[in-house]
Amino acid sequence: MQIRAAVMEKNDGTFTKRDIHLDDVELEEPRAGEVRVRITSCGVCGTDRGCIHGLEPYPTPGVLGHEGAGIVEEIGPDVTLVKPGDRVMIGFPYCGVCRSCRAGEPRYCERGLELSFSGYRLDGSGGMSRKGEKLAGRFFQQSSWATHTIALERQLAKVPEGLELDFAGPYGCSISTGAGTILNVLRPGPGSSIAIFGVGNVGLAAVMAARLTAATRIIAIDRVPERLALARSLGATDTLEHGPDTVAQLKEMTREHLDFSVEATNGSNLVSEAITALGILGTCAMVGGAKMTASVKMNHPDVLLHGKKVVGVMGGGGQTPHFLVSLMELQRDGRFPLERLIKFYNFADVNQAIDDSDAGRTIKPVLRMTA
Ligand SMILES: [Zn+2]
Ligand SMILES: [Zn+2]
Repeated sequence: MQIRAAVMEKNDGTFTKRDIHLDDVELEEPRAGEVRVRITSCGVCGTDRGCIHGLEPYPTPGVLGHEGAGIVEEIGPDVTLVKPGDRVMIGFPYCGVCRSCRAGEPRYCERGLELSFSGYRLDGSGGMSRKGEKLAGRFFQQSSWATHTIALERQLAKVPEGLELDFAGPYGCSISTGAGTILNVLRPGPGSSIAIFGVGNVGLAAVMAARLTAATRIIAIDRVPERLALARSLGATDTLEHGPDTVAQLKEMTREHLDFSVEATNGSNLVSEAITALGILGTCAMVGGAKMTASVKMNHPDVLLHGKKVVGVMGGGGQTPHFLVSLMELQRDGRFPLERLIKFYNFADVNQAIDDSDAGRTIKPVLRMTA
């Protein structure tokens, strides 16, 4: 069928600016295990911007967008989990058969990178084309900066009744990443302390999730004072403007007993600080994106003698649909106020949404395809 999609002809180069514009695109029919979703809204996330700015690879011409939400329109053969008319959000793709997937860890699917960044299905076929020209239209197996798309049945989660559908998309990536780090992986016990480096959409989701636990010290760290004010209003007990004394300040504030740190910056790589600031037996979660060539420095005796742990957390870990539905129910019930991070944009203003996100003017832009 004929759809409209935001096609990226080229990404940002050293001397040239990106070219992303709405265009007429042909979408093929869903195959076995796939469904067609009429997209009503889709978030703009750090990984979209990473591909636009050349930090992460994605073929062009292609269609980005990996936080889609909408209504199932048509189901392919053998689909049993959803039916036409269901309200859904589209989460991470996973193969369903590798060792990680079978162990209940789909975020660590062995074919996850290929499914997310190749732009095509695992068999090399694509879902979108333009006047006979192949488009990389399977970003995270969804490419949801479009009026309609095809997704895998198993990557969908149903949106609970009572929650506005347009809030659901960001749970597919950034919001579940921040919240899952706290609720699935770190699981802070009563009286624990957590420092969150970087309070963009991922870090703020971590703050909101930490507030749902019995942790008593939630310290937000950022360079932007407005974000720190927002973090405080969402549950941070303390805020720090990032600077050369950040580690010393954290040690003093927690009397050297910082239990958890979360590195959620978008490429600033403050992991070394997040490890150094920890107390004895503390755990650092690496969550934020970085260049594919980035590495981390840590002091050997500091980690060894203090029994520190460093753990990478992809997409918040945990089991996909059940966890996503739980977060959406918490928002519906007023316990996870994601709506405070979101600003809506018309689909045609996709470039404005990207610019506002780059500049930090908007925490979580969400495109509305139906506006
Ligand atoms: Zn897998
Ligand atoms: Zn993302």
